[in-house]
Amino acid sequence: MSVRDSDFLVIGAGVSGAAAAAELAADGKVTMVEMEERPGYHSSGRSAALFTPNYGPPLVRAIVASGTAFLRTPPSGFASEPLLSPRQAVTFVGAGDEALIDQFMAEAAPETPVEEISPQQACDLAPLLRREAVARAMLDRHVTDMDANAIHQGYLKLFKARGGTLACDQRIVGLERAAGNWLATSASGEVFGAPVLINAAGAWADEIGRMAGLLPIGLQPMRRTAIIIAGDPALAPASLPAVDDGAAESYVKPDAGRLMASLGDATPSPPCDAQPEDLDMAMIVDWLERKTHLTVRRIEHSWAGLRCFVADHQPVAGFDPGTDGFFWLAGQGGYGIMLAPGLGRITRDLICDGALGSAFTGRGITAAALGPDRCRPA
Ligand SMILES: Cc1cc2nc3c(=O)[nH]c(=O)nc-3n(C[C@H](O)[C@H](O)[C@H](O)COP(=O)(O)OP(=O)(O)OC[C@H]3O[C@@H](n4cnc5c(N)ncnc54)[C@H](O)[C@@H]3O)c2cc1C
Repeated sequence: MSVRDSDFLVIGAGVSGAAAAAELAADGKVTMVEMEERPGYHSSGRSAALFTPNYGPPLVRAIVASGTAFLRTPPSGFASEPLLSPRQAVTFVGAGDEALIDQFMAEAAPETPVEEISPQQACDLAPLLRREAVARAMLDRHVTDMDANAIHQGYLKLFKARGGTLACDQRIVGLERAAGNWLATSASGEVFGAPVLINAAGAWADEIGRMAGLLPIGLQPMRRTAIIIAGDPALAPASLPAVDDGAAESYVKPDAGRLMASLGDATPSPPCDAQPEDLDMAMIVDWLERKTHLTVRRIEHSWAGLRCFVADHQPVAGFDPGTDGFFWLAGQGGYGIMLAPGLGRITRDLICDGALGSAFTGRGITAAALGPDRCRPA
């Protein structure tokens, strides 16, 4: 039995693992193991690719804000095209839900303010909207399209350039702590060893924790479904903002000449290769035809993915107090792509420096708020 020794072992090569691995590779030897043939098969390859800095709980917004400069100006060679490109978002609510607009506007950070617009202005910006569906609306100019694949590939490239090793087709099935090292055994019998293990296994993070004999963090994967339909240049020009139903958390947006739509579905699921269900797709079509002038003749493509949450819907990043050298990086919910630069850096700071840098503490981000302990019963 040969053991592959590193300073850091990352389990899971989605965008979270890749960002953390690339950051850690500046400080030591990193091996990243992935059970699929290639990185990006699960959640990281199934997102809506929207950068929405006013979305999610306060800790999420603060971490996203800490990584925005990276996404706007990545290091040279990281990506050949901009990672963020203009989109904007119109959020509308129907009669009875008007108060939601006050709530969204109050929650927006001062550095990313939103503005109320009239229902008619909303329909002018988004001609596909049915006027009767809109009682109040707001415009968020800070929402952009995000090249999720370029972000993921950029981190994988940076990881490799810094000497990191990626081992695909290696499903970790056993973990053991011996002589100050984590020994991770894969289904094919390879053993990967390192004193520090980073659990970035997405929906499977609690499964990895259990292999290490740790208490779960209560991670709940939730399935969300998306469809692609034909574009409509009159109702949905390429410049169409993302159109978001604030009460239903459903949205439609341009996607490479077509339209992508997703419902606010959050169906609890075990960790798995999530697949779209007919009922969920029918509900997206029903929502589109009730709220917009679009007629859906054919669904060209559909997919489902898992968004994983712990009870407080904030990400988990920190060492487990129940053992040595086991770092959780999980619970990125519906924000994991835009969180990746901030969380990757947070992971490096907590592991290599033992504390968060001022880029995070200055935004009120604390190790205690991120740590796994908060997810366990007191
Ligand atoms: C429909 C949808 C829309 C979304 N839209 C957005 C959006 O607009 N903006 C945004 O920022 N986020 C969005 N998200 C959320 C985002 O996609 C996720 O938060 C993010 O991809 C999570 O990345 P991850 O690396 O933690 O997980 P994953 O990408 O799932 O990576 C985990 C990896 O671990 C591997 N793994 C698991 N177990 C093992 C094992 N035993 N051994 C080895 N490897 C293992 C898996 O194969 C997987 O590749 C969306 C998600 C969905 C589903």
